[in-house]
Amino acid sequence: MSAYDWDAFYERVAAVGYEYEPKEEVHGCTLCGSSDIEPYLTEDNYQFPVGTDLCTHCGMVFINPRMDADAYQAFYEGWYRRLISAKNGREVTMATLRPEQELYAGWMCDSIGKHFPKYPRVLDVGGGCGAFVDEITNRYGGTGTVLDPAPDELKEGQWEKIRSTAEAWDPGYRRWNVITVMNTVDHFLDPVAVLTTCRRAMARSEDGAVLILNVQDFAYRCKVFSSHDMPVTRAVKVDHPHNFTRDTASALLRKTGFDPIEILKEEKPGHLAWCFVAKPSETTEEVRAHPELVKELRRYRDE
Ligand SMILES: [Zn+2]
Repeated sequence: MSAYDWDAFYERVAAVGYEYEPKEEVHGCTLCGSSDIEPYLTEDNYQFPVGTDLCTHCGMVFINPRMDADAYQAFYEGWYRRLISAKNGREVTMATLRPEQELYAGWMCDSIGKHFPKYPRVLDVGGGCGAFVDEITNRYGGTGTVLDPAPDELKEGQWEKIRSTAEAWDPGYRRWNVITVMNTVDHFLDPVAVLTTCRRAMARSEDGAVLILNVQDFAYRCKVFSSHDMPVTRAVKVDHPHNFTRDTASALLRKTGFDPIEILKEEKPGHLAWCFVAKPSETTEEVRAHPELVKELRRYRDE
């Protein structure tokens, strides 16, 4: 991590010419609904003036004020890939992202494939290039659907495509028995609404239905920067209106009617993520307080 040239990165970001402009205020915590929120950080990793708040009840960190759905759509259409390319110091396209996602999809199937039903009907929410749907259906048969708002991300692949944001999507009477939400939950403007819709779109638990939710751990990202004497603001990303941890992702699942049955830890240098396997449940749970998480996050901010 220390080898990364941040000065060169900020020069490349400046050359992109993006100007951040928040559009709407968020009132209260987007996960638990508490009004006990406090300012967290005032900048993101691109050094855009992206303010975040911390919920002192559940430990959710969310951008506030933030861009609205239209502003985010314009951001994804015009700027996102260029900023990611600036971060990587090379052009990032669907083609360059695909091998990395294929590797990850392979690891995921090796690790949790045993939980999949016999004939998977897979829906990947925010599935981009379809790597997860391809891996699962190649291995286990079944059918695949990719839900993604970006038109060019959906050009390739043999699966069914639904072009929509996760928030605007209505599954109607359709049901899937494997729903994957891979590294996309941080991008949602309303994760509770999206997961509630996913729950509605799930086949019954008796039919072996599972939801796979993968999140990068925000507290760990803060910890990494903090332990390298770098600004913790680098853990914040303008494209992540939400910043989940193991605790808050678990709370999100329980609140929206899912019961985690296995939680895999994915760890490599500078990176920690959690992969939840969850079954649909008939009950929902209120979001509990996470005082230790709140304390930890405050420490990174105040150091
Ligand atoms: Zn909260």
